[in-house]
Amino acid sequence: MSRIHPLPDLLVNQIAAGEVVDRPASVLKEVLENAVDAGARAIEVQLEQGGVRRIRVTDDGCGIERDDLALALERHATSKIASLDDLEHVATMGFRGEALAAIAAVARTTLTSRAEGAAHAWRIDGDERSLAPAALNQGTVVDVADLYYNTPARRKFLKREATEYAHCDDMFRRVALARPEIGLQLSHNGRVIHRLPPGSVAARVAALMGDDFLQHAREVTADAGPLRLTGFASLPAYSRSSRDAQYFFVNSRFVRDKLLTHAVREAYADILHGSRHPAYALFLDIDPAGVDVNVHPAKIEVRFREARAVHQFVYHALERTLAESGAGFAIPPQG
Ligand code: ADP
Ligand code: MG
Repeated sequence: MSRIHPLPDLLVNQIAAGEVVDRPASVLKEVLENAVDAGARAIEVQLEQGGVRRIRVTDDGCGIERDDLALALERHATSKIASLDDLEHVATMGFRGEALAAIAAVARTTLTSRAEGAAHAWRIDGDERSLAPAALNQGTVVDVADLYYNTPARRKFLKREATEYAHCDDMFRRVALARPEIGLQLSHNGRVIHRLPPGSVAARVAALMGDDFLQHAREVTADAGPLRLTGFASLPAYSRSSRDAQYFFVNSRFVRDKLLTHAVREAYADILHGSRHPAYALFLDIDPAGVDVNVHPAKIEVRFREARAVHQFVYHALERTLAESGAGFAIPPQG
């Protein structure tokens, strides 16, 4: 065996990228969440070739100061937390300061940004880390091209364009559902796919999940002090053969959580046959101190401090909503 030696930064970032950036959709997630964290009111996404050739996200958020542009691309550099206490109360989508460093290590990345009050914008090249003046209104453009151009082993795992695009579309929907107050647009290969004006939750749900869903759904509103559940859940008549229309958000973060999925399934247990699945967009709001989002880099898993109470709350809120609608009698008992 050879002697121990520290790895060069680029390689460290490329290794870390394996966790954060496993396909174009995860790049899109990180870059979209950054735009949300920057307080954007309008976000535009341009994809080429399923996001492999290019993912460009333009926002009108707070922008990045010239002197912070290079830091934005550094690993473990963030403007979002500064202490353990901040971490425990984190209210932003990001906080690990890893995403842009990982993305820049595996794709041709440029950031163009104009901070509030700056005379003009600046652009930084992810490879050379060189700064140049640029033209832009306030906000940021993140351009990520040729994903995995320098990591052929990873490139091999990319699926065909339609598949990668479908994952990007799904990711876009998650963010768009969680942020109806933000205007969002998505185009693929020059064609506009979604154009979503800012509006109500119901309008956003209708735009992304269909009027038909909304007409066959009940609005959920339940409040129990530190816990709040809102959103829409389908009546049995609208049930589906797959789980493709199930969105659960915790503090605006899309999550896939066993406990929550279980609570929902239980609420439907008496009214939905086992092979049918409900459709829903549910939003759980909870004191950030009551939930740990730092379980996995993609932050899709969470851990609740009071897991049992959360489960009970979600179950009862849904069960009550469905019972009030008489959903239990909507279909005859099966087999
Ligand atoms: P994190 O989001 O965890 O802080 P990132 O690597 O995603 O880490 O981003 C690093 C930093 O770059 C952020 O903390 C933020 O200050 C800045 N940044 C990234 N994208 C944007 C954006 N669209 N607008 C403003 N600032 C941004
Ligand atoms: Mg981020």
